[in-house]
Amino acid sequence: MSAAIFDYDLFVIGAGSGGVRAARIAAEYGAKVAVAEEFRVGGTCVIRGCVPKKLLVYASRFADDFADAAGYGWTLPVTPSFDWKMLIANKDKEIARLEGAYGKTLGGAGVEIIRSRAVLDGAHSIRLTADNRKFTARNILIATGARPFVDQSVPGCEHAITSNEALHLTQQPKRIVIVGGGYIAVEFAGIFHGLGSKVTLLYRGEEILRGFDDDVRAALHKEYAAKGIDVRVKSEIARVDKTAGGLTVRLADGGTIEADQVMAATGRVPNTDGLGLGNAGVALDKHGAVIVDAYSMTTEPHIHAVGDVTNRLNLTPIAIREGHAYADTVFGGKPTAADHHDVPTAVFSTPEIGTVGLTEAEARKRGAVDIYKSTFRPMKAALSGRTEKMLMKLVVDAATQRVLGVHILGPDAGEMAQVAGIAVKLGATKAQFDATVAVHPTAAEELVTMRNKWEG
Ligand code: FAD
Repeated sequence: MSAAIFDYDLFVIGAGSGGVRAARIAAEYGAKVAVAEEFRVGGTCVIRGCVPKKLLVYASRFADDFADAAGYGWTLPVTPSFDWKMLIANKDKEIARLEGAYGKTLGGAGVEIIRSRAVLDGAHSIRLTADNRKFTARNILIATGARPFVDQSVPGCEHAITSNEALHLTQQPKRIVIVGGGYIAVEFAGIFHGLGSKVTLLYRGEEILRGFDDDVRAALHKEYAAKGIDVRVKSEIARVDKTAGGLTVRLADGGTIEADQVMAATGRVPNTDGLGLGNAGVALDKHGAVIVDAYSMTTEPHIHAVGDVTNRLNLTPIAIREGHAYADTVFGGKPTAADHHDVPTAVFSTPEIGTVGLTEAEARKRGAVDIYKSTFRPMKAALSGRTEKMLMKLVVDAATQRVLGVHILGPDAGEMAQVAGIAVKLGATKAQFDATVAVHPTAAEELVTMRNKWEG
């Protein structure tokens, strides 16, 4: 493919999950491609999202493992101690390695990486803010992701960190208040608790993890509270004050909490500010997200957008799928719309959540459902004495007997959701789940051995 009068066939803004995939696949189809990145190649997921977070989750779970070992006959020769600085340094090393690998993959595919912020100057024109160089491109892909939202109306909000800084703190906070009830808030609450910090989770809504199945939400809340995480729902922050000893969080109900750090995990906003999208005729919705069709096309036919900047389903595998589908559509001659249905996903809380398909509440809005539910102590707890319970739940369409949703709380729930996701995607029925032989002894076998409907 020739760039003809344009410098590039494709200019991608943002080298994150979606942008990297789109750039590489388009280049493999023969397009002349450049990608501009203002921070680090790899984007949120690799640099300050999924990957570093999961490494911290692993670190946080050792505390439970050490405690559980005693029931199995192990005596640890010394009391385990934890070194935050070492964890962060080792994590940073791994992230740098991954960043290098992403750069190499792009380079290997012939994609030019430009290390600068890029903005649109016109419909086909891009300007680099680092040196004001300008380029033209036949096609432009907006893959700029999203950033943490911090409510600026809260006095003292400048003292709060976000997930970006939480991954780079030079010192582990002894006491941390995490504001928010979404998966990022919940995951970081689990991380800091496991590593020994005193954690308060403040959420103004009725229950944490809005959008997840209600049984799972309630069960995780209970488990967190039982571990000693101070989960406060219907609780609103009024202000944050700096004190000699740290920070004082003042609540709307008059209460106060002393902390070393306050982390705002109160949502994310699409990165469209100052991007010059107006110069190019690209329309945004009321949240600032780029409006796209099923093929990720914006209101300008040669400009597309993928990933979090479109605020569809803000997950890495979705951004990757959208980026790949875009390249197939525009450069591969294979029009492809990314599929946003029955997406399996996990919350890396401890205990973990794995889920795919409809929640019970969503399914009930569509018609009658059968519910299968089981709560049990995982086998490992038999000797460790841990009281944590696992929860497994199937939401089944009463008329067709199709399994519409699988919801799991407990160790390895994310791994199970990946596999259960295949069955749900294939439209498996409850009878087909039941016809599947159990793997024994596992926790997952419960998914194929729940015989009786939950009668409430
Ligand atoms: P990003 O990956 O955000 O990439 C956008 C890139 O564009 C960034 O590198 C940014 O620096 C760059 N950029 C922005 N503006 C410009 C500009 N004007 N010029 C040049 N460059 C620019 N998802 C999961 O699936 N599983 C998880 O476990 C998970 N955990 C997460 C944990 C945290 C703490 C966070 C914050 C997110 C997590 N996510 C997770 C979400 C996931 O990271 C995002 O959905 C994914 O990274 C979106 O990819 P993207 O390509 O849209 O954007």
